[in-house]
Amino acid sequence: MNTSLKFRISWLALIVIVIDCCKGQSKKEEDFPRMRKEMVERQIKQRGIRDANVLEAFMNVPRHIFVPAEYRSLSYKDTPLPIGFDQTISQPYIVAYMTEILNPDKNMRVLEIGTGSGYQAAILAYLCKEVYSIEIIDSLGNRAKRIFEEEGYHNIKVKIGDGYKGWKEYAPFDAIIVTCAPSNIPESLMEQLAEGGKMIIPAGEMYNQKLYLIEKVNGKIRQKETIPVLFVPMKHKDKSD
Ligand code: SAH
Repeated sequence: MNTSLKFRISWLALIVIVIDCCKGQSKKEEDFPRMRKEMVERQIKQRGIRDANVLEAFMNVPRHIFVPAEYRSLSYKDTPLPIGFDQTISQPYIVAYMTEILNPDKNMRVLEIGTGSGYQAAILAYLCKEVYSIEIIDSLGNRAKRIFEEEGYHNIKVKIGDGYKGWKEYAPFDAIIVTCAPSNIPESLMEQLAEGGKMIIPAGEMYNQKLYLIEKVNGKIRQKETIPVLFVPMKHKDKSD
């Protein structure tokens, strides 16, 4: 075979591979709505999540846009996924469980500690009036901010800082959701909960955490233990912000 023919054949092979890859990519993108529907049915509805608005939020918020590109094809699997910096986006069912327990509605203002990928904040933004989310790792916080801007989530405000102190400027909150685990429930978060408000928070040491539901009734705190969970630890930051 002469060199010019060989050259033409290898170019042709390369073009075929590129076209094939592009087709694979677009096929995955096309599959996401079907995968999302299956995720809602099998992982969320069948495990007992009933709130119609919560189910609608999970049907409509595209989880894959919050997942880093290298794991995007796994976005609708029944598992947490890495988001960089040793952090994870929670398993879909856990996001749904924590969301439903807060009884979200259109008048609520919610504080989230641990923005991470931004997925939980986007689900809450779909269901509530305003979401205030604090992230301690600036690259993650800025990445989430960028996605919220690009995707038109105008009711989410992100702050880079330490969630232990909450966000006094906008307190009190009708609901607080914490998506990293402190050893003990921070006092300042209980203070920033509105009367009649609910907080869902994992607490305890690694491999021995429980998810707690806190309610403020007549100024008093009621605490209920729910399910065992595994969250990344809540970090301490000394600097004041
Ligand atoms: N809600 C996220 C889950 C992120 S994992 C999502 O939907 O993807 C928990 C996040 O909490 C991590 O991004 C971690 O950096 C953050 N975090 C840990 N300690 C924190 C603290 N003290 N204040 C604010 N964020 C914290």
